Amino acid sequence: MTIGFDLDRIFINTPPFIPGDLIAKLYKKKDNGELLYRIPSRPEQLFRRATHIPVLRPPIENNLAFLNKISKKSNQLYLISSRYKFLEGATNQVIKKYGLNEIFDGLYFNYDNQQPHIFKNTVLKSLKLDIYIDDDLSLLQFVAKDNPKTKFYWFETDEGRSARAHHKTLRKNVVGISDLSEIFT
Ligand SMILES: [Mg+2]
Repeated sequence: MTIGFDLDRIFINTPPFIPGDLIAKLYKKKDNGELLYRIPSRPEQLFRRATHIPVLRPPIENNLAFLNKISKKSNQLYLISSRYKFLEGATNQVIKKYGLNEIFDGLYFNYDNQQPHIFKNTVLKSLKLDIYIDDDLSLLQFVAKDNPKTKFYWFETDEGRSARAHHKTLRKNVVGISDLSEIFT
């Protein structure tokens, strides 16, 4: 199977003491289910980069263990992250630290600073994955429409659940999960 994963909040957590709603606000102009992400200003880029020191970005151990397990079977695995160019240094470090470059068959980053949902949609259309997993429900609802043959799993986090209220129904190829192993059930 060909399986794609998001990076942040799937394998790498956000800083533990910053509320998820604030993170969502930093990333999106408004968190009402619409898709318009903010490209941060230069001072904010410096601040955001400072929050990417390893101690503030703990790994999500369960999910990394799952990834390692399925990489040993005959799956094609891709990492698709909309991290912007200004995080390239921190991103390279995290990729090396967890050996992600050796696990994944391809890594895609948004270093052209496109709107994240546009970037991911372009990559997803070219890869034609069987499965893609992300924690951003609004983004999944968007890409699910253009990629009807891909099954999208929304990895539900406590923070992300607030977005659920903004979507009356999930698209038929979008399913919520709280454990990655559910993609095989
Ligand atoms: Mg994410």
